Amino acid sequence: PLSTGDLIEPHRISVCVRKRPLNKQEVAKKEIDVVSVPGKGTLLVHEPKQKVDLTKYLENQIFHFDYSFDESATNDLVYKFTAKPLVQSIFDGGMATCFAYGQTGSGKTHTMGGNFTGKQQNSAKGVYALAAQDVFTYLNHRRYTNLDLSVYVSFFEIYNGKVYDLLNKKAKLRVLEDDRQQVQVVGLEEVYVSSTEDVIKIIQMGSACRTSGQTSANANSSRSHAILQIVLRRNDRATTLHGKFSLVDLAGNERGTDVSSNDRGTLVETAEINRSLLALKECIRSLGMNSDHIPFRMSTLTKVLRDSFIGEKSRTCMIAMVSPGMTSCEYTMNTLRYADRVK
Ligand code: ADP
Ligand code: MG
Repeated sequence: PLSTGDLIEPHRISVCVRKRPLNKQEVAKKEIDVVSVPGKGTLLVHEPKQKVDLTKYLENQIFHFDYSFDESATNDLVYKFTAKPLVQSIFDGGMATCFAYGQTGSGKTHTMGGNFTGKQQNSAKGVYALAAQDVFTYLNHRRYTNLDLSVYVSFFEIYNGKVYDLLNKKAKLRVLEDDRQQVQVVGLEEVYVSSTEDVIKIIQMGSACRTSGQTSANANSSRSHAILQIVLRRNDRATTLHGKFSLVDLAGNERGTDVSSNDRGTLVETAEINRSLLALKECIRSLGMNSDHIPFRMSTLTKVLRDSFIGEKSRTCMIAMVSPGMTSCEYTMNTLRYADRVK
């Protein structure tokens, strides 16, 4: 498996996969682990009870990614090979984006760190906080102090194609596009932050807002995308945007395949999640091909992230999360096929 000493390759788009461990309930139910991580970038889905022998498996059960993480990987290790190499690009004036993709329960929020309790800040630190920490390290670096930058944070959710501000009591916000195709979320809170601790407080606040009991829709966070943005602005140039890091905890992708429901609300949700995840794949592919045509209007998610798919300096990373159990096998295969086609 990967270790902290391994070399990090700079990629414009990197696609990685993380397998979570079986949890207590799964172990109690004698759930069978059907996922193996035999190399630093490979992942294998195999028949239960068979011994793992690479030569024996069909080509379509072996997947190759930039990096693969097994159940022993910590958030620190995952961060080091995924989001960390992107921090520099926002200081160089680019847009960086990191997506957590996968079925509900596969570890997206655990990885991003949107489940802060505030009690185990060291062990539970996720990609959000680790990225913030590095942003402040760079900010004080000699190479960037002459830029006179300030750091701001926003945190919002997209549910059924609508944007809700997690830093302002889930206020519903409009997304506008001007005649230069610049997209703006009107009235989005952007909080000035001067330390990692400030950002952690905001993550806790926003995450609590995300999961707080609601009479309205989007009570279930698995049906919405959560987006934390770390924004760099120039103090010496009327706070113009310099760079932006978007860290996205995507809606559970299992809904994309669940079209059996009779409930209209569920069907609308499913269609919307389907559309946004498909749009996302297309937009990342366009970035990879340096294409002029970015189909960002296909969904609200890709609209608000439009900047991320253009520009020489933009970098993207997707972490596909998989559950190890046999009962999740179908969803796991769907996740892996999607991740496989992003790049
Ligand atoms: P998702 O956000 O994809 O729905 P979660 O991040 O909420 O999934 O994870 C589901 C459960 O599994 C949580 O209790 C979480 O703490 C646990 N979990 C996920 N990934 C890991 C991991 N790598 N190591 C230990 N526990 C994990
Ligand atoms: Mg989650």
